[in-house]
Amino acid sequence: MANNNVAIRTQGLVKFYGDFQALYGVDLEVNRGEIFGFLGPNGAGKTTTIRCLLDLIHRNKGEVSVLGIDPREDPVSIKVRVGYMPGELHLDDSLNAEGLLHYFNALRGKSADWSYISELAQRLSLDLKRPIRNLSHGNKQKVGIVQTLMHKPELIIMDEPTQGLDPLMQQEVLKLVKEAQAWGATIFFSSHIMSEVEAVAERVGIIRAGRIVEVADPKKLGSRSLRRARIRFQKNVDRARIEEIKGVSVLSESNGREMLIQVEGEMDALIKALSAYPVSDFETDRPSLEEIFLAYYEN
Ligand code: ATP
Repeated sequence: MANNNVAIRTQGLVKFYGDFQALYGVDLEVNRGEIFGFLGPNGAGKTTTIRCLLDLIHRNKGEVSVLGIDPREDPVSIKVRVGYMPGELHLDDSLNAEGLLHYFNALRGKSADWSYISELAQRLSLDLKRPIRNLSHGNKQKVGIVQTLMHKPELIIMDEPTQGLDPLMQQEVLKLVKEAQAWGATIFFSSHIMSEVEAVAERVGIIRAGRIVEVADPKKLGSRSLRRARIRFQKNVDRARIEEIKGVSVLSESNGREMLIQVEGEMDALIKALSAYPVSDFETDRPSLEEIFLAYYEN
């Protein structure tokens, strides 16, 4: 399984919680130096996959390699080399943020540069002197982001890093992710927000009900699978006729004269079929990743 260009690889990853199967043979490959978005709705298996990557929970079947290491065999060196931000943070309430970061730094052999920690805190508007117990959820989240990035790890794994942050801070986190890539890091982050994945990720893996349904460039995913079109007819057209066309569903219609449709796959069948109708206007646009994502989960 060793391949120096691959930061994360899972093959046939299976996880059961008791009788409940959460992962059904997840195959993933994340290249070194890339930003990989891991998308899925609630309960799809993102956190479970991430926890298996770090051996925080034991997998039942399959192979996992993180930075060339099987996390089951050497979980400690993975924890030192990886920056990990869990989805649910449990921070020691008795310390302030600075004390906690000192503690994490000591665990990792004091590899962090404190001027970078101060820069991160300042950019995230985080007061390091405040006790953890007095921090809001969003501010605790920021402490998690700082501890993930502070030692400039070669691999960064983040479980929904922007959850609970305001839009400005979300943007700042995405900027930090981009900057981490510039220093050579690989970033694997889960999300259910399409726009942020579209903004930074070079590839996206979509997980649904414990199975990977697609791995693609988010931009190509947009152009390939789904389009929206608005058609204006010169006279009334029966909606049912339009719905018979391969790949077409009618999203809305007004008086049979104007229809908003969604086209899955190639446009060819639609364009040929429309030649039989008096069309006065035809507009298409690329849907957002959000819409593509919803289309996956509707099925
Ligand atoms: P979210 O976006 O809500 O965090 P997720 O994609 O991270 O979702 P997981 O937390 O990995 O999903 O959960 C996958 C499935 O496994 C869900 O159906 C969840 O209910 C179940 N599950 C997770 N943890 C446990 C557990 N400790 N015991 C039993 N079932 C669990």
